[in-house]
Amino acid sequence: MKISFIPNVLLLFVTITNRKWQPDTFVALHNDSTHLSAFFLASFDSFESIIHVTIMERVYHNNEIFRCPYCKTKLKAKYVKDNKRYLNWGVCRCSCDEYPIIEGVYYIIKDDCFNNRRAVKQLKSKKYYLTLRICLSNSPKALKLLLILKYFLGYRFPHKIKLEHILTFSKMFSRHNAFKNWVDYNIQRKFSKDYCLTLEIAKKYLNHDDILLDIGCGFGMFSKAIFSYKGLNRLTYIGADKNFSTLLTNKYFTYQDLPLICSNSEISLPIQSGYVNKIFILDTITNIYSPKTLMKECGRVLKKNGKLFIINIYNINKRSYLWGYGINPLNLMSWMKKYFKKITFIQNQLNSNNKMVKINCITKNTFTYSCYATK
Ligand SMILES: [Zn+2]
Repeated sequence: MKISFIPNVLLLFVTITNRKWQPDTFVALHNDSTHLSAFFLASFDSFESIIHVTIMERVYHNNEIFRCPYCKTKLKAKYVKDNKRYLNWGVCRCSCDEYPIIEGVYYIIKDDCFNNRRAVKQLKSKKYYLTLRICLSNSPKALKLLLILKYFLGYRFPHKIKLEHILTFSKMFSRHNAFKNWVDYNIQRKFSKDYCLTLEIAKKYLNHDDILLDIGCGFGMFSKAIFSYKGLNRLTYIGADKNFSTLLTNKYFTYQDLPLICSNSEISLPIQSGYVNKIFILDTITNIYSPKTLMKECGRVLKKNGKLFIINIYNINKRSYLWGYGINPLNLMSWMKKYFKKITFIQNQLNSNNKMVKINCITKNTFTYSCYATK
């Protein structure tokens, strides 16, 4: 192993002086002595950050992974070569359009206002703040204010502020009941029984060499949990969600630097065919208008023998308008059968011995359940 002394000394200096150092620093100093640097940094409690930098590099420097959901051609990214912003901001291009990359979040959304084009225009002239504001234009006001504050203060923003604090603050200043309910759900989620089931499944089925796609990743509580497990530290993770402010909150306040992509999974998944080998759809499927299309897309992006996990599915219930549409279990089974060879239905919670319970016979009246399937 070739050892270059100066970058390591610099890295040590950065780590000691600034615990929440920017991953860009690492990329800038990245060379053959990566392993040695990793060893030094591990002793300073920042090993988690290093792992995430390598995930970012693996995913973002590979122009073969993402594809445009609209024209289905490759998305090629070019990062802004700015010393401060390297790897976090840039523009990606397909054959139909251009999309901005903001703080490491791919913004692959086309709306009626052409926000993607307006943002790219600002980004090309290095007006980062205006780019951010365009993409946050539809976000709840309090959350938007916090995200902009974090953008300007960067690592001077108080680190003790956790995701839960941010959510509680934005809930206090919001007038929309739907938003308040959504925040409550996010705060209480980690105590729910189906979330315990999710973590059990993650421990049992995820491996360190997996490429995992998390559809509907939201504020990133699931990714935070899985990266805290030993043995999953080389896992490649990609998070997808439709809501940009949620993804930016995830990026800023979980203090994890993971590849995140903002796109509408109902049109098409922004990933090349046969690229991932695990997909998690957590509390999301009943909020999707066209689950049939999503099942087809999951079948497309999964490798052979790859696994799909859908947690918390419930039947059609007219009174649950705030929590999505609901799915007829028999319909879901028939859509899945087209793309998956083995489907297992399980109860939405673990039994008293912390084991999963299989459901042998699913009927049109089964109300809540989860499932996993193999391609
Ligand atoms: Zn396109």
